Amino acid sequence: MPTRTFVIEEAGKKRFWDVSWEAGEVEISSGVWGASGRARNRSFTSVGERDAFIEAEVRKVLKKGYVESSALAPVADDPHSDVDRKAAAWRKKFEALVAPAWAPTFGEGVDVHGRVRGPMTLLPHESWPACPSCKRPLHAVLELDRSRLPDKALRAKELVQLFTCESWSNEEATSAACIFDGWLARRHAPAGALRDGPAGRGQRTNIIGWTRFEELPPELDESLGAELEHEACEVTEVLLRGAEDDGVSTWRSWAKASGKAARNVHKLGGFPTFVQECSLSFTRQLFQLECNQPFDVNLGDIGAGHLLIRPSGDIAFFWASH
Ligand SMILES: [Zn+2]
Repeated sequence: MPTRTFVIEEAGKKRFWDVSWEAGEVEISSGVWGASGRARNRSFTSVGERDAFIEAEVRKVLKKGYVESSALAPVADDPHSDVDRKAAAWRKKFEALVAPAWAPTFGEGVDVHGRVRGPMTLLPHESWPACPSCKRPLHAVLELDRSRLPDKALRAKELVQLFTCESWSNEEATSAACIFDGWLARRHAPAGALRDGPAGRGQRTNIIGWTRFEELPPELDESLGAELEHEACEVTEVLLRGAEDDGVSTWRSWAKASGKAARNVHKLGGFPTFVQECSLSFTRQLFQLECNQPFDVNLGDIGAGHLLIRPSGDIAFFWASH
């Protein structure tokens, strides 16, 4: 069950606040560090509602001064032990891989960083884009103002727009191609006027801010991964002290226990959590959107889509279904 832990130290007393979730269930527990604390549960009928609730609760505790903690605080190693020294070196290497990501805050407001399922900026004589397959107008998914992004490396004087075709139907055999070909990701000049077009299935809203968090890559690069695989098991045992070994990969077990494993959420930047291998070359992920609200895009059952920055600077959209 995924869990996020937050801690605060007040008058010399350490307190914790935990949130865990699975399907529609959310459990929040809080109390004095070391004790089991008090728990409360909430049930939701949709993942979107659940995530919105978690996001709101997390914002509240952050406001109170809590900070997110990684479950794997450095253990008191014996500096003379070779095993502990090696484990500490690994931890250092891992921690160097942390990269920032930002969770979007959706809502109404004048301070708009992006638009979801709403109007898109178009040039005066520009026509609303159409689906290459069925020729019907595409549906607006996302417009992101890159000049307003919190990450300098992702900032640019342009808008990024994502459209999709939702006109496909089972009755029209040829329209099945809309699901695959009906995606348009493009860069657009920041100038223009907002124009309304089909907004599609999602919930019309704006992105009005960002909350920073930290992530580790889902996979280690090949050489580091091979090195870790050949590490003595005494060392990996120390490394995974206090963590749950998932039996698949030391790296994933460690990342999960650190609380910084790459998340399957709507996010700016961060590491893409690809469901299937991505065949595109890219330098950075610009944005990841899940199939749930407010986007509610058709990505199979529980898919994710990724706006990726190509080495040329162009923007590509890659999606896959779970
Ligand atoms: Zn179409």
